[in-house]
Amino acid sequence: MSDYPDDDSLDQSTRGSASFAGVSVNWDAVWLAARLRKIPATFVAVASESGVAESTLRNWDTDRVTTPSQKNLDAVARALDVPRRFLLRPDPIPPASHLTFRRKSAREMTDERDLFAAYARLAAIFATFLLGGTWELNQTPDPLREPETWREGQVSARHLRARLGLDLSTPMPDLVNLAESLGVLVVYGPAMPEGLDACSAVVGGRRVIVVKQNDTDYFRQRWDVAHELGHFVMEHDSAGRENEAAANDFAQGLLFPWTMTNRRRLVGAVRDTDDLESLLNIQADWQVSVDALLTTAKKQKIRGAQEKAMLLTKHREVGGLEVLPAESPTVLPNAADSAALRHKRPIEALAKEEGFPEDFVKLMVSH
Ligand SMILES: [Zn+2]
Repeated sequence: MSDYPDDDSLDQSTRGSASFAGVSVNWDAVWLAARLRKIPATFVAVASESGVAESTLRNWDTDRVTTPSQKNLDAVARALDVPRRFLLRPDPIPPASHLTFRRKSAREMTDERDLFAAYARLAAIFATFLLGGTWELNQTPDPLREPETWREGQVSARHLRARLGLDLSTPMPDLVNLAESLGVLVVYGPAMPEGLDACSAVVGGRRVIVVKQNDTDYFRQRWDVAHELGHFVMEHDSAGRENEAAANDFAQGLLFPWTMTNRRRLVGAVRDTDDLESLLNIQADWQVSVDALLTTAKKQKIRGAQEKAMLLTKHREVGGLEVLPAESPTVLPNAADSAALRHKRPIEALAKEEGFPEDFVKLMVSH
Protein backbone atom coordinates (compact mmCIF):
# COMPACT_ATOMS: atom_id res chain seq x y z
CA MET A 1 0.00 0.00 0.00
CA SER A 2 1.23 3.40 -0.84
CA ASP A 3 0.69 5.10 2.46
CA TYR A 4 3.99 4.01 3.90
CA PRO A 5 6.40 6.87 4.31
CA ASP A 6 9.87 6.47 2.90
CA ASP A 7 11.78 4.73 5.56
CA ASP A 8 15.46 5.42 5.89
CA SER A 9 15.78 2.46 8.19
CA LEU A 10 14.93 0.03 5.39
CA ASP A 11 17.28 -2.88 5.48
CA GLN A 12 20.12 -1.97 3.16
CA SER A 13 20.43 -5.55 2.03
CA THR A 14 16.92 -5.72 0.62
CA ARG A 15 16.78 -5.08 -3.06
CA GLY A 16 14.65 -2.34 -4.47
CA SER A 17 12.28 -2.71 -7.35
CA ALA A 18 13.63 -3.50 -10.76
CA SER A 19 11.43 -1.59 -13.15
CA PHE A 20 11.30 -2.06 -16.83
CA ALA A 21 8.66 -1.74 -19.51
CA GLY A 22 6.02 -0.89 -16.96
CA VAL A 23 6.35 -4.06 -14.93
CA SER A 24 8.60 -4.24 -11.93
CA VAL A 25 9.32 -7.19 -9.79
CA ASN A 26 9.47 -6.23 -6.16
CA TRP A 27 12.36 -8.35 -4.91
CA ASP A 28 11.57 -7.42 -1.38
CA ALA A 29 8.23 -9.18 -1.89
CA VAL A 30 9.86 -12.16 -3.61
CA TRP A 31 12.27 -12.76 -0.73
CA LEU A 32 9.51 -12.21 1.80
CA ALA A 33 7.29 -14.79 0.08
CA ALA A 34 10.20 -17.23 -0.09
CA ARG A 35 10.78 -16.95 3.65
CA LEU A 36 7.08 -17.46 4.33
CA ARG A 37 7.32 -20.74 2.43
CA LYS A 38 10.56 -21.71 4.14
CA ILE A 39 12.46 -21.45 0.87
CA PRO A 40 15.91 -19.83 1.12
CA ALA A 41 15.78 -16.23 -0.08
CA THR A 42 18.28 -16.76 -2.89
CA PHE A 43 18.13 -16.75 -6.68
CA VAL A 44 19.29 -20.36 -6.77
CA ALA A 45 16.49 -21.58 -4.50
CA VAL A 46 13.73 -19.57 -6.18
CA ALA A 47 15.00 -20.77 -9.58
CA SER A 48 14.95 -24.39 -8.54
CA GLU A 49 11.50 -24.13 -6.92
CA SER A 50 9.94 -22.32 -9.87
CA GLY A 51 11.76 -23.86 -12.79
CA VAL A 52 12.64 -20.40 -14.08
CA ALA A 53 16.32 -20.13 -14.99
CA GLU A 54 18.47 -18.42 -12.41
CA SER A 55 19.94 -16.16 -15.10
CA THR A 56 16.43 -15.05 -16.04
CA LEU A 57 15.65 -14.14 -12.44
CA ARG A 58 18.90 -12.25 -12.13
CA ASN A 59 18.05 -10.35 -15.28
CA TRP A 60 14.78 -9.20 -13.73
CA ASP A 61 16.83 -7.86 -10.90
CA THR A 62 19.31 -5.91 -12.94
CA ASP A 63 16.98 -3.50 -14.59
CA ARG A 64 18.39 -4.09 -18.02
CA VAL A 65 16.73 -6.89 -19.91
CA THR A 66 13.23 -7.67 -20.98
CA THR A 67 9.96 -7.50 -19.14
CA PRO A 68 9.40 -10.76 -17.28
CA SER A 69 7.08 -12.98 -19.24
CA GLN A 70 3.76 -13.68 -17.64
CA LYS A 71 4.56 -17.37 -17.77
CA ASN A 72 7.76 -16.97 -15.78
CA LEU A 73 6.22 -14.55 -13.31
CA ASP A 74 3.37 -16.97 -12.75
CA ALA A 75 5.81 -19.82 -12.25
CA VAL A 76 7.53 -17.89 -9.48
CA ALA A 77 4.19 -16.86 -7.95
CA ARG A 78 3.03 -20.48 -8.01
CA ALA A 79 6.24 -21.74 -6.47
CA LEU A 80 5.94 -19.20 -3.66
CA ASP A 81 2.18 -19.70 -3.41
CA VAL A 82 1.31 -16.01 -3.66
CA PRO A 83 -0.79 -14.12 -6.21
CA ARG A 84 1.27 -12.69 -9.06
CA ARG A 85 0.33 -9.24 -7.85
CA PHE A 86 2.17 -9.79 -4.62
CA LEU A 87 5.43 -9.96 -6.56
CA LEU A 88 4.63 -6.66 -8.27
CA ARG A 89 3.81 -4.64 -5.17
CA PRO A 90 4.69 -1.04 -5.91
CA ASP A 91 6.09 -0.18 -2.48
CA PRO A 92 8.91 -1.47 -0.37
CA ILE A 93 7.83 -3.63 2.55
CA PRO A 94 8.89 -2.18 5.90
CA PRO A 95 11.55 -4.28 7.61
CA ALA A 96 11.00 -6.04 10.93
CA SER A 97 13.16 -5.12 13.87
CA HIS A 98 13.14 -5.89 17.59
CA LEU A 99 12.29 -9.47 16.80
CA THR A 100 12.04 -11.51 19.96
CA PHE A 101 10.99 -15.07 20.56
CA ARG A 102 9.52 -16.51 23.62
CA ARG A 103 11.58 -19.23 25.28
CA LYS A 104 14.26 -19.92 22.69
CA SER A 105 17.19 -17.85 21.67
CA ALA A 106 17.07 -16.46 18.17
CA ARG A 107 20.41 -18.06 17.41
CA GLU A 108 18.96 -21.52 17.79
CA MET A 109 16.29 -20.88 15.25
CA THR A 110 17.42 -18.87 12.27
CA ASP A 111 14.78 -20.35 9.96
CA GLU A 112 11.94 -19.64 12.36
CA ARG A 113 13.31 -16.20 12.90
CA ASP A 114 13.19 -15.50 9.17
CA LEU A 115 9.72 -17.01 8.88
CA PHE A 116 8.27 -14.99 11.74
CA ALA A 117 9.95 -11.76 10.67
CA ALA A 118 8.43 -12.31 7.22
CA TYR A 119 5.06 -13.15 8.72
CA ALA A 120 5.06 -10.05 10.93
CA ARG A 121 5.89 -7.94 7.88
CA LEU A 122 3.06 -9.53 5.89
CA ALA A 123 0.66 -8.95 8.80
CA ALA A 124 1.72 -5.31 8.93
CA ILE A 125 1.08 -4.60 5.26
CA PHE A 126 -2.17 -6.54 5.39
CA ALA A 127 -3.28 -4.56 8.45
CA THR A 128 -2.46 -1.35 6.62
CA PHE A 129 -4.56 -2.52 3.67
CA LEU A 130 -7.51 -3.30 5.94
CA LEU A 131 -7.22 -0.60 8.55
CA GLY A 132 -5.36 2.16 6.80
CA GLY A 133 -3.66 4.37 9.30
CA THR A 134 -6.00 3.44 12.12
CA TRP A 135 -3.77 0.83 13.67
CA GLU A 136 -0.81 3.11 13.58
CA LEU A 137 0.51 4.07 16.89
CA ASN A 138 -0.81 7.58 17.23
CA GLN A 139 -1.42 7.76 20.94
CA THR A 140 0.58 10.43 22.71
CA PRO A 141 2.31 9.78 24.94
CA ASP A 142 3.06 6.32 23.60
CA PRO A 143 1.32 4.05 26.15
CA LEU A 144 3.96 1.36 25.87
CA ARG A 145 7.06 3.46 26.10
CA GLU A 146 8.74 4.13 29.38
CA PRO A 147 9.14 7.88 29.82
CA GLU A 148 12.13 7.43 32.05
CA THR A 149 14.96 5.04 32.23
CA TRP A 150 13.08 2.27 34.02
CA ARG A 151 14.25 -0.92 32.46
CA GLU A 152 13.75 -3.55 35.05
CA GLY A 153 10.81 -5.84 34.41
CA GLN A 154 8.92 -5.53 37.67
CA VAL A 155 9.23 -1.77 37.83
CA SER A 156 8.27 -1.36 34.20
CA ALA A 157 5.20 -3.51 34.78
CA ARG A 158 4.18 -1.32 37.70
CA HIS A 159 4.56 1.76 35.58
CA LEU A 160 2.43 0.34 32.80
CA ARG A 161 -0.24 -0.66 35.32
CA ALA A 162 -0.20 2.86 36.70
CA ARG A 163 -0.49 4.39 33.25
CA LEU A 164 -3.45 2.12 32.54
CA GLY A 165 -5.10 3.17 35.79
CA LEU A 166 -4.95 -0.35 37.24
CA ASP A 167 -3.85 -0.41 40.84
CA LEU A 168 -1.77 -3.22 42.25
CA SER A 169 -4.75 -5.10 43.63
CA THR A 170 -6.58 -5.30 40.30
CA PRO A 171 -6.21 -8.34 38.01
CA MET A 172 -5.33 -7.62 34.38
CA PRO A 173 -8.27 -7.75 31.94
CA ASP A 174 -8.16 -9.61 28.57
CA LEU A 175 -4.55 -9.07 27.53
CA VAL A 176 -4.97 -9.56 23.78
CA ASN A 177 -7.67 -6.94 23.87
CA LEU A 178 -5.54 -4.65 25.97
CA ALA A 179 -2.55 -5.02 23.63
CA GLU A 180 -4.80 -4.20 20.67
CA SER A 181 -6.13 -1.13 22.43
CA LEU A 182 -2.53 -0.01 22.92
CA GLY A 183 -1.93 -0.09 19.17
CA VAL A 184 -0.30 -3.54 19.00
CA LEU A 185 -1.34 -5.77 16.12
CA VAL A 186 -1.99 -9.26 17.52
CA VAL A 187 -2.31 -12.02 14.91
CA TYR A 188 -2.44 -15.78 14.79
CA GLY A 189 0.71 -17.12 13.21
CA PRO A 190 1.68 -20.13 11.14
CA ALA A 191 2.39 -23.39 12.97
CA MET A 192 5.04 -22.73 15.54
CA PRO A 193 7.87 -25.09 16.36
CA GLU A 194 7.83 -27.05 19.59
CA GLY A 195 8.55 -24.86 22.56
CA LEU A 196 7.74 -21.60 20.84
CA ASP A 197 4.55 -19.91 21.95
CA ALA A 198 4.72 -16.37 20.71
CA CYS A 199 7.01 -13.83 19.15
CA SER A 200 6.99 -10.11 18.61
CA ALA A 201 8.52 -7.61 16.23
CA VAL A 202 8.39 -3.97 15.28
CA VAL A 203 7.58 -3.49 11.60
CA GLY A 204 8.05 -0.05 10.18
CA GLY A 205 7.50 1.42 13.65
CA ARG A 206 4.41 -0.67 14.36
CA ARG A 207 4.28 -3.37 16.99
CA VAL A 208 3.20 -6.89 16.10
CA ILE A 209 2.67 -9.92 18.35
CA VAL A 210 2.23 -13.31 16.71
CA VAL A 211 0.46 -15.95 18.81
CA LYS A 212 -0.49 -19.57 18.28
CA GLN A 213 -3.80 -20.36 16.65
CA ASN A 214 -6.09 -22.80 18.44
CA ASP A 215 -4.13 -22.29 21.59
CA THR A 216 -6.09 -23.96 24.33
CA ASP A 217 -3.75 -22.79 27.02
CA TYR A 218 -5.47 -19.64 28.15
CA PHE A 219 -3.14 -18.91 31.05
CA ARG A 220 0.00 -19.58 29.12
CA GLN A 221 -1.03 -17.30 26.29
CA ARG A 222 -1.81 -14.53 28.75
CA TRP A 223 1.70 -14.91 30.08
CA ASP A 224 3.12 -14.90 26.55
CA VAL A 225 1.31 -11.71 25.58
CA ALA A 226 2.37 -10.03 28.83
CA HIS A 227 5.94 -11.16 28.14
CA GLU A 228 5.94 -9.71 24.61
CA LEU A 229 4.43 -6.45 25.89
CA GLY A 230 7.39 -6.37 28.26
CA HIS A 231 9.80 -6.47 25.33
CA PHE A 232 8.00 -3.48 23.79
CA VAL A 233 7.84 -1.51 27.02
CA MET A 234 11.50 -2.08 27.77
CA GLU A 235 12.40 -1.50 24.12
CA HIS A 236 14.37 -4.71 23.75
CA ASP A 237 15.90 -4.96 20.32
CA SER A 238 16.62 -8.68 20.45
CA ALA A 239 16.01 -11.83 22.47
CA GLY A 240 19.00 -12.86 24.59
CA ARG A 241 18.97 -14.25 28.09
CA GLU A 242 18.85 -10.96 29.99
CA ASN A 243 16.03 -9.54 27.93
CA GLU A 244 14.08 -12.78 28.22
CA ALA A 245 14.46 -12.78 32.00
CA ALA A 246 13.40 -9.13 32.19
CA ALA A 247 10.36 -9.82 29.98
CA ASN A 248 9.38 -12.70 32.28
CA ASP A 249 9.76 -10.46 35.32
CA PHE A 250 7.60 -7.94 33.53
CA ALA A 251 4.92 -10.57 32.81
CA GLN A 252 4.90 -11.64 36.42
CA GLY A 253 4.74 -8.06 37.66
CA LEU A 254 1.93 -7.26 35.28
CA LEU A 255 -0.16 -10.36 35.99
CA PHE A 256 0.57 -10.81 39.68
CA PRO A 257 2.17 -7.70 41.19
CA TRP A 258 4.72 -8.53 43.83
CA THR A 259 3.06 -6.62 46.66
CA MET A 260 3.32 -7.55 50.31
CA THR A 261 -0.23 -8.91 50.23
CA ASN A 262 0.37 -11.05 47.15
CA ARG A 263 3.68 -12.25 48.47
CA ARG A 264 2.09 -13.38 51.74
CA ARG A 265 -0.72 -15.05 49.91
CA LEU A 266 1.64 -17.00 47.65
CA VAL A 267 3.88 -18.04 50.53
CA GLY A 268 0.83 -19.25 52.42
CA ALA A 269 -0.51 -21.18 49.44
CA VAL A 270 2.81 -22.87 48.78
CA ARG A 271 4.08 -23.49 52.26
CA ASP A 272 1.11 -23.83 54.54
CA THR A 273 -1.29 -25.99 52.58
CA ASP A 274 -1.18 -29.61 51.46
CA ASP A 275 -3.24 -29.25 48.33
CA LEU A 276 -3.44 -27.02 45.28
CA GLU A 277 -6.63 -25.30 46.27
CA SER A 278 -5.12 -22.07 47.56
CA LEU A 279 -2.94 -21.83 44.46
CA LEU A 280 -5.94 -22.48 42.22
CA ASN A 281 -7.76 -19.71 44.04
CA ILE A 282 -4.95 -17.27 43.26
CA GLN A 283 -5.06 -18.47 39.66
CA ALA A 284 -8.78 -17.75 39.51
CA ASP A 285 -8.51 -14.35 41.19
CA TRP A 286 -5.56 -13.09 39.16
CA GLN A 287 -5.97 -15.06 35.93
CA VAL A 288 -2.37 -16.16 36.15
CA SER A 289 -1.45 -19.84 35.90
CA VAL A 290 -0.49 -22.04 38.82
CA ASP A 291 2.65 -22.88 36.80
CA ALA A 292 3.65 -19.23 36.63
CA LEU A 293 2.92 -18.81 40.33
CA LEU A 294 5.14 -21.76 41.15
CA THR A 295 7.90 -20.43 38.92
CA THR A 296 7.74 -17.19 40.88
CA ALA A 297 7.72 -19.15 44.14
CA LYS A 298 10.84 -21.07 43.08
CA LYS A 299 12.56 -17.88 42.01
CA GLN A 300 11.75 -16.38 45.39
CA LYS A 301 13.01 -19.57 47.05
CA ILE A 302 9.73 -20.14 48.85
CA ARG A 303 9.95 -23.44 50.67
CA GLY A 304 7.61 -26.13 49.34
CA ALA A 305 7.53 -24.83 45.75
CA GLN A 306 9.21 -27.96 44.42
CA GLU A 307 6.74 -30.29 46.13
CA LYS A 308 3.79 -28.25 44.91
CA ALA A 309 5.16 -28.44 41.36
CA MET A 310 5.23 -32.24 41.61
CA LEU A 311 1.71 -32.26 42.99
CA LEU A 312 0.63 -30.09 40.06
CA THR A 313 2.14 -32.50 37.54
CA LYS A 314 0.24 -35.41 39.10
CA HIS A 315 -2.94 -33.39 39.19
CA ARG A 316 -2.57 -32.51 35.54
CA GLU A 317 -1.87 -36.09 34.52
CA VAL A 318 -5.25 -37.17 35.80
CA GLY A 319 -6.89 -34.29 33.95
CA GLY A 320 -7.65 -32.39 37.12
CA LEU A 321 -7.07 -28.96 35.63
CA GLU A 322 -9.59 -27.03 33.63
CA VAL A 323 -8.53 -26.17 30.07
CA LEU A 324 -9.75 -22.84 28.75
CA PRO A 325 -9.55 -21.41 25.24
CA ALA A 326 -7.06 -18.57 24.84
CA GLU A 327 -8.00 -14.95 24.28
CA SER A 328 -8.51 -14.00 20.62
CA PRO A 329 -7.46 -11.07 18.46
CA THR A 330 -10.44 -8.99 17.32
CA VAL A 331 -9.14 -5.88 15.53
CA LEU A 332 -8.08 -7.47 12.24
CA PRO A 333 -10.91 -10.07 12.11
CA ASN A 334 -13.51 -7.35 12.72
CA ALA A 335 -11.97 -5.07 10.11
CA ALA A 336 -12.04 -8.00 7.68
CA ASP A 337 -15.73 -8.59 8.40
CA SER A 338 -16.62 -4.97 7.71
CA ALA A 339 -14.50 -4.87 4.56
CA ALA A 340 -16.24 -8.00 3.30
CA LEU A 341 -19.65 -6.50 4.05
CA ARG A 342 -18.75 -3.21 2.42
CA HIS A 343 -17.48 -4.83 -0.75
CA LYS A 344 -20.01 -7.67 -0.69
CA ARG A 345 -17.23 -10.17 -1.23
CA PRO A 346 -15.48 -12.66 1.02
CA ILE A 347 -12.34 -11.26 2.57
CA GLU A 348 -10.21 -13.98 0.93
CA ALA A 349 -11.33 -12.77 -2.49
CA LEU A 350 -10.67 -9.14 -1.59
CA ALA A 351 -7.26 -9.95 -0.21
CA LYS A 352 -6.36 -12.02 -3.23
CA GLU A 353 -7.23 -9.13 -5.54
CA GLU A 354 -4.86 -7.03 -3.50
CA GLY A 355 -2.20 -9.66 -3.94
CA PHE A 356 -2.15 -11.18 -0.47
CA PRO A 357 -1.58 -14.91 -0.04
CA GLU A 358 -4.92 -16.49 0.79
CA ASP A 359 -3.83 -19.04 3.38
CA PHE A 360 -2.08 -16.51 5.60
CA VAL A 361 -4.92 -14.02 5.25
CA LYS A 362 -7.37 -16.69 6.44
CA LEU A 363 -5.20 -17.21 9.49
CA MET A 364 -4.94 -13.51 10.23
CA VAL A 365 -8.66 -12.80 10.07
CA SER A 366 -9.96 -15.94 11.78
CA HIS A 367 -12.03 -15.34 14.89
ZN1 LIG B 1 10.93 -12.95 24.83
